[in-house]
Amino acid sequence: MGKETGFLEIQREESHYRPVKERLADYRDVNLYADEKTISRQGSRCMDAGIPFCHAIGCPLFNLIPEWNDYVYKNKWKEAYERLTLTNFLPEITGRICPAPCEASCTLSINDSPVTIRQIECAVIERAFSEGLVKPRLPRRESGKKIAVIGSGPAGLTAADRLRSFGHSVTIFEKSSKPGGLLRYGIPDFKLEKHIIDRRIEIMKSEGINFETGINAGKDISLRYLQEKFSAVLIAAGSGVPRDIDIPGRTLNGVHFAMEFLTGSNLAVSGESAANLVNAAGKTVIVIGGGDTGSDCVGTANRQGAKKVYQFEILPRPPEHNETWNPVWPEWPKILRTSSSHEEGVQRDWSIITRSFHGNGDLQKVLFSRAEWEKNEKGSWNMKELKGTEHYIQADLALIAAGFVHTEHSGLVNDAGLDLDKQGNILVKNYASSVRGIFAAGDAATGASLAVRAVYHGREAAEEINRYLK
Ligand SMILES: Cc1cc2nc3c(=O)[nH]c(=O)nc-3n(C[C@H](O)[C@H](O)[C@H](O)COP(=O)(O)OP(=O)(O)OC[C@H]3O[C@@H](n4cnc5c(N)ncnc54)[C@H](O)[C@@H]3O)c2cc1C
Repeated sequence: MGKETGFLEIQREESHYRPVKERLADYRDVNLYADEKTISRQGSRCMDAGIPFCHAIGCPLFNLIPEWNDYVYKNKWKEAYERLTLTNFLPEITGRICPAPCEASCTLSINDSPVTIRQIECAVIERAFSEGLVKPRLPRRESGKKIAVIGSGPAGLTAADRLRSFGHSVTIFEKSSKPGGLLRYGIPDFKLEKHIIDRRIEIMKSEGINFETGINAGKDISLRYLQEKFSAVLIAAGSGVPRDIDIPGRTLNGVHFAMEFLTGSNLAVSGESAANLVNAAGKTVIVIGGGDTGSDCVGTANRQGAKKVYQFEILPRPPEHNETWNPVWPEWPKILRTSSSHEEGVQRDWSIITRSFHGNGDLQKVLFSRAEWEKNEKGSWNMKELKGTEHYIQADLALIAAGFVHTEHSGLVNDAGLDLDKQGNILVKNYASSVRGIFAAGDAATGASLAVRAVYHGREAAEEINRYLK
């Protein structure tokens, strides 16, 4: 701990966003990144708590947070980078898009404001890139074993890199035209610019990792082929089946899944293809679902020039908590959150039930009613529809952002006859599926989650596969 009194003397300095008007005119990163002097000062706020809750409870990757906070305060950026990358293969991703559960469990969050851990993480890795420290790491020897990784999201990328470091030959099969998974085709550029992913992929290629893009495993190549040619197969195919809302009018033009909208936009923004663009320009847009995917739809619709954007959530409005300390420390607080996209213009409402879509071929209006939530004697919430609250809202575009059900079953999962859990995700024990030699990690096994968890599971799955191959 570099500065014992740092947390008493220095206030948390939040990162800032570019002005709304400026950022709405482009898709570039909304963040303004703090300079290194500020970051270094923020590092000194870390108390090096006896029990580092950030590391042990908050961070799914068990990042060695107090150690790199201290190095940053002492201007030892290389050491901070080395500590950071002991546990985190993609800090340039988590440093930008992680909700930072570590900050919720920072000991300072008990009654003060947490250390700006995510900002520090991002600064450490960016400094390492700028100093040329992030280099391909070649294995000391080749094992002669070949591994197939299906899917190039954060779970697949992390697993591939770790497996390669053990000396295995690794091929990533990806059905999209470019690697990155939801990082590339789900999350908009204003949260994560795609050159950040490209930079990492180039390093992985230099390490000898093969990328076979445009290959749908289970369709373009059979599972049997993969099992014959590779010593182990890791399925990191994500949680690709979106949750639908089965109500009248669902097939009208103008009613889309959020992912159709976001993928179409990401493809158009990158210049890859404008063929699947669902354009919100000049339209009244209703986003159904109050989560992060919905928030990304709001930001994208506003950038496309939507006339008006609504975002409705069926669950009740979370409580507001405008203090910097965490009311449920060290847990993640379920409080009202306002993203950069919300700040850019949206009418939000909660306890809203979507009843039916109406139009004459094309969507014209949506019928909603209000819900009332009551706790039953067992303590769980029951929803009741409030009579007489039906109302229409005129709309040209409705985006269903109601979450994801489970991983895609057709193809690989069904062909292999893999056991599934109750939710329909691939059932695993220590990352091994019910079929010998086939492993699963990331959202495909956990259900839709966070990038940081996918990185963790990718890392651990690689360790298990390595043990299996010995
Ligand atoms: C809109 C949106 C915004 C999000 N924002 C955030 C955020 O801000 N912060 C955060 O932490 N998390 C966020 N998430 C969640 C995060 O992106 C995911 O949890 C994470 O990407 C899961 O990683 P994964 O590697 O398991 O799967 P994915 O990223 O889904 O990657 C799976 C890959 O497998 C490929 N694939 C599937 N089947 C096959 C096949 N048969 N053959 C070949 N390839 C196949 C897919 O094309 C895909 O590229 C967001 C998710 C969405 C949808």
